[in-house]
Amino acid sequence: MDLFEDARSRLYEVLERLEVSDDVRERLSQPVLSLQVSIPVRMDDGHLCVFKGWRVQYSNILGPTKGGIRFHTNVNQTEVTTLSFWMAVKCAVVGLPYGGGKGGVEVDPKSLSLLELEQLARGYIRAIADVIGPDRDIPAPDVNTNATVMGWMADEYDHIVRRQTPAAITGKPVELGGSIGRVAATGRGALQVLDLWVEREGRSPEDLTVAIQGFGNAAYHFASLAHQKGYRIVALSDSQGAIHSEKGLEPDPIWEEKTRNRDLTGMVYCDDSVRGQADRVQEIPQDALLTLDVDVLVLAALEDQIHEGNVDDVQAGAILEIANGPLTSAADAALWKRGVPVLPDVLANTGGVIVSYLEWIQNRTGDYWDEATVNQRLAERLGKETGRVLDRAEEEGVSYRTAAYLEGVERIATAINRRGNRQDWD
Ligand code: NAD
Repeated sequence: MDLFEDARSRLYEVLERLEVSDDVRERLSQPVLSLQVSIPVRMDDGHLCVFKGWRVQYSNILGPTKGGIRFHTNVNQTEVTTLSFWMAVKCAVVGLPYGGGKGGVEVDPKSLSLLELEQLARGYIRAIADVIGPDRDIPAPDVNTNATVMGWMADEYDHIVRRQTPAAITGKPVELGGSIGRVAATGRGALQVLDLWVEREGRSPEDLTVAIQGFGNAAYHFASLAHQKGYRIVALSDSQGAIHSEKGLEPDPIWEEKTRNRDLTGMVYCDDSVRGQADRVQEIPQDALLTLDVDVLVLAALEDQIHEGNVDDVQAGAILEIANGPLTSAADAALWKRGVPVLPDVLANTGGVIVSYLEWIQNRTGDYWDEATVNQRLAERLGKETGRVLDRAEEEGVSYRTAAYLEGVERIATAINRRGNRQDWD
């Protein structure tokens, strides 16, 4: 089964449980728009490189499509389609007036110079400009794209449409209309979901150990806030390696060291790794982090990290998904059977899209809020929707993922029916 079929199989299970009409199944089985583009970039040495990119709009039933743009060597149409599907579910789970979309470019962005990277970002927006906009499809950052890249993209879009249109892209630098609080929002939201679950379990952060795979943007903010709350972060990893300390790691100085080179050189990406700490703490094999005996394993890197091949070795008491799709459906089912709770991506990583939504509102109204207001609105929405998901899981005796899908898909299905279908006419 490829990534998309695997993801869609979960949808079909939920549709059966909800007993919705065939129309809903048909409407949600494939994306509404799938665009492949070529992006020519004149490289610094004078030769022309043509990159492949995609923008997929999965569902626009609840509103304009919304979703990030990924720059990575493994990006392909199937991955972008799957990520757009998850965005559609996710926006519905937290009640946003958005459908789901996603974009990506097949590239190793760290091999490009700063100027080449900017040309690629601008070229990508020129290639997809006809299908995006504040009422149609609103891109945002994802893996290897950040506020700097969104700033270039927003500037390019303004040039194309010949007017200031800040609501066309979210995750922008604050100086270009970005929202205060957006950078930390995914990590902050994930921590809120974990906190609410921990509270229901009658446990307290001080008693819990945490290992985090993928110490990047989302995970850093999660780790920093979780450390402040008293959780003991015992392991961190990134694409270059992993570190472990039973006494606990301090995320802030580790992040500062990992990103110092970037700050000094004005680079978009950091060259360094958590491995830079190896002379002070124990270095472990990257995959060993996934099987540590911890209370909470946080997955914040990429999809398909826990699968049939390694799920039996997972010893964590619970899993928090900050990454999209880090468990295959087979691994998810195995963990459910073993009674290991999974706080799923479509709920746990929604902090980013919720604050993107707040950014979009601020851009459209011209009324800009301070950080406390943004954080409060994030907490209110996520608190309410997390409560609904946790309650539903308990009431129906299903996993948190199934409960989240039931909530989200029910909202989309209701909107499909409200738009009119044959069953309604009979
Ligand atoms: P990022 O590029 O800043 O961080 C990803 C991190 O994962 C990097 O540190 C990278 O080195 C590490 N990594 C890659 N492969 C690894 C491996 N095999 N083992 C260990 N670490 C590995 O990206 P991000 O924005 O933090 O996003 C991370 C995940 O969270 C993605 O799945 C993304 O789709 C999801 N997500 C991010 C946001 C957001 O707002 N940033 C929102 C929702 C979901």
